[in-house]
Amino acid sequence: MGQVGFYINQAKCTGCKACQIACKDKNDNKVGILFRRVYEFEEGISTKVNGVFKTSLQSASLSISCNHCDNPKCVQGCPTGAMHKRESDGVVLVDHEKCVGCKYCTWNCPYGAPQFNDDLGMMTKCDTCLDLREKGENPACVDACPFNALEFGEISELRAAYGTINEVSGLPSAKFTNPNIVITPNIKE
Ligand code: SF4
Ligand code: SF4
Repeated sequence: MGQVGFYINQAKCTGCKACQIACKDKNDNKVGILFRRVYEFEEGISTKVNGVFKTSLQSASLSISCNHCDNPKCVQGCPTGAMHKRESDGVVLVDHEKCVGCKYCTWNCPYGAPQFNDDLGMMTKCDTCLDLREKGENPACVDACPFNALEFGEISELRAAYGTINEVSGLPSAKFTNPNIVITPNIKE
């Protein structure tokens, strides 16, 4: 399998957070640790002209986890080699035999994806639900979405199907890490 990634359709996403909850349940994460997060963004203004309100306000939800980037700053920032990108499918993983809990990966990731677990004293993160994938299933977040707003697969196939947008309003510029995501935006320029 080639490099994998996620497709995120903001136009379908209602912000219900079923994906976030499914991820949290699947990974048995305690309060405060979120491998997948759903953000709300708003743009535009409302004005009152001659007693009439006019608005250009737009809002959108965005569900995001680790983007298993081509240029993973988390990996580059890890002094022990614990954070690594596996060759077979480009998934970025933490080797808990090597992690010393220094948190450098978190500081280097512009998406805030690595999550420190203070019970373990080590970093944790999205692994694309490797155990489910080995059984031929999707990551938990994908199957939990009631609106089919998320897909997972080879990024080349996702790009062929949905295009190449990998940054939207509210996200860091994609030029820093080359994230393996494709987004259908819901905020019109
Ligand atoms: S999103 Fe952050 S943690 Fe995930 S691969 Fe990219 S830089 Fe690393
Ligand atoms: S489950 Fe689907 S609709 Fe709900 S927040 Fe996640 S991506 Fe959006």
